[in-house]
Amino acid sequence: MKTIDELLTNTFKLSDFRPSQREIVESAMQGRDTVVVMPTGGGKSLCYQLPALMLPGVTLIISPLIALMKDQVDALQKLCLPATYINSTLNMDECQNRINLARQGEFKIIYIAPERFYSENFMKLINQISISMLAVDEAHCISQWGHDFRPSYLKLGKIIEMTGRPVVMALTATATPEVREDIIHQLNLNDPKIFITGFDRPNLKYFALELDEQAKKNEMIRILSAVKGSGIVYVATQRSVAEITELLDEHKLPAVGYHGGMDKEERHQRQQEWISGMVPIVVATNAFGMGIDKRNVRFVLHFNMPGSIEAYYQEAGRAGRDGLTSYCVLLYNYHDRKIQEFFIENNYPPESSLRKIYKFLFDLDQRDIYLTYQQIGEACDINELMVAAAVKLFEQYKILQRMQKRPVTYRVYFLLGRREAEKLVKRAPNQLQLLQYLRLKDMQNILLEDTLRTLNYSQEQFRNSMRELVQKGILDYTPPFRGRGIKIISPRVPWQQIGIDFALYERRKARQVEKVDELEKYVQTKICRRHYILKYFGENHINSNCHACDVCLDWQSPQIQETTTNERSPFRKTDNMYTVLTCVQHFNFRYGITTFADLLSGNSRQRLQKMGLTESPFWGALKRSRKNAVIRLLHLMLNRDLLAQTEGRYPVLGITKSGQKYLKS
Ligand code: ADP
Ligand code: MG
Repeated sequence: MKTIDELLTNTFKLSDFRPSQREIVESAMQGRDTVVVMPTGGGKSLCYQLPALMLPGVTLIISPLIALMKDQVDALQKLCLPATYINSTLNMDECQNRINLARQGEFKIIYIAPERFYSENFMKLINQISISMLAVDEAHCISQWGHDFRPSYLKLGKIIEMTGRPVVMALTATATPEVREDIIHQLNLNDPKIFITGFDRPNLKYFALELDEQAKKNEMIRILSAVKGSGIVYVATQRSVAEITELLDEHKLPAVGYHGGMDKEERHQRQQEWISGMVPIVVATNAFGMGIDKRNVRFVLHFNMPGSIEAYYQEAGRAGRDGLTSYCVLLYNYHDRKIQEFFIENNYPPESSLRKIYKFLFDLDQRDIYLTYQQIGEACDINELMVAAAVKLFEQYKILQRMQKRPVTYRVYFLLGRREAEKLVKRAPNQLQLLQYLRLKDMQNILLEDTLRTLNYSQEQFRNSMRELVQKGILDYTPPFRGRGIKIISPRVPWQQIGIDFALYERRKARQVEKVDELEKYVQTKICRRHYILKYFGENHINSNCHACDVCLDWQSPQIQETTTNERSPFRKTDNMYTVLTCVQHFNFRYGITTFADLLSGNSRQRLQKMGLTESPFWGALKRSRKNAVIRLLHLMLNRDLLAQTEGRYPVLGITKSGQKYLKS
């Protein structure tokens, strides 16, 4: 039998394993349940394909994407590997055929769509073969916390039992702790070995700054003026898109705005302007970025804090795909937290509001409802965002369905005869043109797009001309319906039987708030930014000093040029450390970080006076540094093991052996 290395080079034609791939393969070969968390493109497939060839029986690969299955199998067959797939595109005979071949040893790798397991016939077939390993690809689909939950995945726990408990490997690119736990729990994995790798982006430099509103703007202008190349400025709301774009414009920083409220063509056009490099900066809400692969993005600056570390890392990660140094800057103040809380409140309307909207929709007594969220909101006295969230929730619980976007149409009714009407608009060519066009049309359901194209009008021009025609009493006009329309698909039931899991709903809401807390902590905790993020995702064994974030560089604000002259003189830093160590040694394990920082920077005089500390020789010893800078320095020294901190609610600071050594040297 071939060894792992022979398979890698001879069969897969690859020269080396990427980090952890070998260990993952070995873990599966040892019969350990294994969880693999690796970013997209990291090389997860090899982790199950390689052991699949070595294990005695067949490996089933559960994959949700039927469209990709055939491609994967084709790629394997090109390498002459015994692989096939089974999904709903095949009939039962073909399924049977492929399983027979597997039983005869013709196939070692079978890709399967999870829905297949619903069929008892299929289960009977599958039980005819001996299964060595079950690989669950895109395993986050099992988690209701995840973004891509698929109910069919929930069955997999049982399937594992029913197939005789083969080795299980679960793979995903979603690196959040709760999704990971959920995968392990739902699949009922047995003391799994967990591999989390490849999330570090060494060429990205991280900065997070707490600044008031005006200072944020100044800092942004300063940074954007200094960085060459393309970048993204993320803001929290559609309104800020316009405001910030304008501000940048005033400072000769060309930018396009982008948000979800713009229509499709406009978004596309602006996106192209930015991608092509015509305009270097795009100011956008989080609607921007999905599926955009621009490699030379030199910075991603968040003017507002997003809602979670996941969201932040994903957005910031759009910088530097070409591997060159790029900057990720997060500007924050308390207001950002308020914005996020506002979003969460609106995303999770209170039960009373949900109930009111439910009643309103069912009282209409129509199956198809063409009202915009705004109209529903006005009728219920609930804001539009909450209506949108309610509709989404009702859709999840199969109470209603949002209709597909349909062509936008409008209607007109003529109130005046042709001659009379044309007399009224003879000095307004636009209106006359529109009027003549409308005369030729069936007055019912005219396609808006058709009108705009034929007359070469913008939406704005169309609206203005239409308004004029209505005001002159020439015609009446039912404006196009722009919402998506709602289809009621379940009978009305008393609210108590609605079936929504409100406990889960509340938990999810609380979790969203926690996620904001976690990101806020990222800004406020002064430990290595990279370390903090990667640790949050579960990637261990990372250095606690990355030399590429504001904390590790001990920088007050991002230094943009790649030169060492911008670094503060190491001499002064050492000097300060010496002072800190002498001070901490003097008050060893008596006070916490805040008190030491106050003492050294000469802050909070009243409080420290009561403690008798203003008399100490250390009072104001680092007067030239701000309190925050001293706090940062203390954290830095904790990271470097020069200082130590006790556990518990009121941790106190002391000096370590290396700290003492440092003092002596
Ligand atoms: P994932 O499923 O994690 O998104 P894939 O398994 O599809 O990623 O792999 C992404 C790409 O990386 C593929 O083109 C694959 O051939 C390549 N790849 C995987 N492992 C290695 C390796 N050890 N050396 C070189 N290329 C690799
Ligand atoms: Mg994959």
